[in-house]
Amino acid sequence: MRKKGLLIVISGPSGAGKGTICKLLLEENPHIKASISATTRKPRQGEVDGINYFFIDTDAFKNMIQEDELLEYAKVYDNFYGTPKKYVLDNLEAGNDVLLEIDIDGALQIKEKFNEGVFVFILPPSLEELKNRIINRGTETMEDINKRYSSALKEINQVIKYDYAIVNDNVEGAIQDIEAILRAEGCRVIRQYEDIITRY
Ligand code: 5GP
Repeated sequence: MRKKGLLIVISGPSGAGKGTICKLLLEENPHIKASISATTRKPRQGEVDGINYFFIDTDAFKNMIQEDELLEYAKVYDNFYGTPKKYVLDNLEAGNDVLLEIDIDGALQIKEKFNEGVFVFILPPSLEELKNRIINRGTETMEDINKRYSSALKEINQVIKYDYAIVNDNVEGAIQDIEAILRAEGCRVIRQYEDIITRY
């Protein structure tokens, strides 16, 4: 009997380095599928529709909510972001692990509604480093930078709601930590129980 895939939920403040960690984690672990979120945010330079996000307008987003097509959704920095449900559920059922890189509101909705998932919070090495990273990204206005920095402080206070916290002072180390977490989670009896009683 095939085991269900793991739902991996990764959150952390803007500038903690989640994007880089997730990208490399996916490259090194082809069995993990990335969910592509829908958003009403405008694409940044270099972002591609259907790869980074599904870029849609507010009406289309509201329609997805009404049709119950989203696993969770939240308003983050004035834009809506949501996880299309079908892709995630189909892959989990097929035994593939699925990675969601989403904000804390969304992560908590998943925890409440589905009571499954491995919740990992990525922390920056320091607050100073966090601010530098947001600034150096160079994609936001000063107002956006300040907004993201003050949100980051609030977000870090919510780390207690997660299962695991990883300080990203070394990307490869952070990825190894996530791989170790996934390996251990996959061995949990609860995830294998049906398989065990069928076999023995
Ligand atoms: P960005 O605009 O920098 O790509 O993303 C802003 C924030 O939105 C990040 O914290 C990111 O994790 C979060 N986000 C991206 N996709 C989703 C989603 O589908 N749902 C929720 N709740 N948050 C998301």
